[in-house]
Amino acid sequence: MGAVMLLYVVAAWLAADLVTGVVHWWEDRYGDPSWPIVGRHVIAPNILHHQDQRAMLAGGYWQRNWTTIVPAAAVAAVALACGQRWVALVAAFATQANEVHGWAHQRCCRVIRGLQLLGVLCSPDGHGRHHRAPFATDFCVMTDALNPVLSAVGFWRLLEFVIGCTTGVWPRPERTTA
Ligand SMILES: [Zn+2]
Ligand SMILES: [Zn+2]
Repeated sequence: MGAVMLLYVVAAWLAADLVTGVVHWWEDRYGDPSWPIVGRHVIAPNILHHQDQRAMLAGGYWQRNWTTIVPAAAVAAVALACGQRWVALVAAFATQANEVHGWAHQRCCRVIRGLQLLGVLCSPDGHGRHHRAPFATDFCVMTDALNPVLSAVGFWRLLEFVIGCTTGVWPRPERTTA
């Protein structure tokens, strides 16, 4: 694989990490389980994950991932139809975000552990910061590359501040306990 191709794939993997991180941030910080459809199928399981981190591992692959696969695959299909192959690759990678997230909550095989050690995949240590106070950082669950950078520049707080100022909608308060 040429260097350009490698860059193409790595950039898509990081973009998928960022996009799914933003969706995860939105779920955590603004999600309400009483919302129609999304509340029951996305927000409620998400809240459960933060109360019981290993609950997501109890169900099968489809149960854990369908709410990510369905919208991301739809985006991939539209992108392909529009000739946007890189965007389609980002969306295809994004379909697996929650599965990669689940790997950070268990002890996986050596290959996955090696990739977690390199930060190519989100590691248990890296993702552990998301499950600690103030429960409002490290939303990216596919790699360990973006979270430190986003935290260092105050990305999530800035995003919340801008949204709060422009729409009047503020996130739930940060917490010191789960
Ligand atoms: Zn979360
Ligand atoms: Zn988690």
